[in-house]
Amino acid sequence: MKKDIYDSIIIGGGFYGLYIADFIASQGKRVLLCEYEDSCMTHASYNNQARIHSGYHYPRSLLTGMRSCLSFPRFIKEFPDCVIDDFAKYYAIGRILGKVTAQQFQNFCQHIGAPCQPAPSNICRLFNSHYIEAVFDAREFAFDATILRDNILQRCASNGVEICTGTQVLEFRQIAGGGLETDITSKKEGGLFTIRCRNLYNCTYARINKLNAASGIRLIPLKHEMTEMALVEVPEEIQNRGFTVMCGPFFSIMPFPSRQLYTLSHVRYTPHYEWYDKEENDTYTDAYRILAEDPKHSSYQAMVHDAARYMPSIGKTVYRDSLWEVKTVLPISEVDDSRPILFKSNYAGISGYHCIMGGKIDNIYDCMDFIRQIERNGPSSS
Ligand SMILES: Cc1cc2nc3c(=O)[nH]c(=O)nc-3n(C[C@H](O)[C@H](O)[C@H](O)COP(=O)(O)OP(=O)(O)OC[C@H]3O[C@@H](n4cnc5c(N)ncnc54)[C@H](O)[C@@H]3O)c2cc1C
Repeated sequence: MKKDIYDSIIIGGGFYGLYIADFIASQGKRVLLCEYEDSCMTHASYNNQARIHSGYHYPRSLLTGMRSCLSFPRFIKEFPDCVIDDFAKYYAIGRILGKVTAQQFQNFCQHIGAPCQPAPSNICRLFNSHYIEAVFDAREFAFDATILRDNILQRCASNGVEICTGTQVLEFRQIAGGGLETDITSKKEGGLFTIRCRNLYNCTYARINKLNAASGIRLIPLKHEMTEMALVEVPEEIQNRGFTVMCGPFFSIMPFPSRQLYTLSHVRYTPHYEWYDKEENDTYTDAYRILAEDPKHSSYQAMVHDAARYMPSIGKTVYRDSLWEVKTVLPISEVDDSRPILFKSNYAGISGYHCIMGGKIDNIYDCMDFIRQIERNGPSSS
């Protein structure tokens, strides 16, 4: 960490921060990335369901479905090494409590251009037809987060991104005459540093408002959930298959490649509790403090008990571990389960300060045009 001026400082070494840092450095700019943990991609970019979304998951938001359908081929082309496609993926439609019917789901898939065929009878037989109206064969893959991390770190290294792990950005301010000044602490170097930059990108996901609160700017309204996904071994009839039941208080079971296990999530039991960042500064609570202090009592039994009513084989899964993470979404997502990108350039009227949060990995493509514009024409261009 050289204590002079950078073109851009990226806060957060999750997939978003790394991808953006790599892009900016590839344009010949000097980039510093600060990551709070001792290594990159240990938070939401690792602790997730590893689904490469291709649209199916969002039948109540046509826009999100369409955007995913467009980003899917782009992601698998850009990161072929981390794509796991050697399993079959099925979407089942719940008969009771479901928010979409099988017909609506099929119409939606047709609209967004996602292939959707009735599943073969041996697959349909895995479900309890009293609760499940139909099952469809889908084209959806998973990603290996460890390979994805290694891949993007390698790209960052070859483009000259300076990465400082164990480094926390505490607050920032504008400086007279232009530019921004950030206060940073580093476990390795010790002490407090002040580093300047032209553009500062806040890619800290669940903690995006920590920096805003500390810097005296208004919070971005966000919803946080303490989430648990169970990591399980699956019986033979689930092996090399993934299943998602739409669209209501149902479950999803998918390969989790970087641990060679499967994740089991449940709409009702994966979120343990929730809280909100409101616009007023005094309501901010550090998401990572809540994550660290949570007693982490697993809801696996409740997940299995309910999911096995729909798919009895789920009852034969064997619990191995849980992934715990704070999931952060825009309050609007509560209405239609959409996952828009949050991109606030020059946030709170501060030239050069940008907040970015994606609701899923492939949303990264939704913000790159804006970043290209900022980097080419200056902050006020976006
Ligand atoms: C339970 C769950 C399931 C999900 N399932 C999927 C899925 O199947 N498919 C999909 O595409 N998406 C999924 N998502 C969403 C996806 O994980 C996120 O959209 C994505 O990982 C966000 O990436 P990020 O880089 O913004 O965040 P993160 O990976 O969380 O990175 C933020 C980084 O910022 C660092 N940081 C925080 N504060 C500071 C600071 N002050 N200074 C320096 N560094 C700091 C953190 O240590 C962290 O490494 C899921 C999310 C959750 C929680």
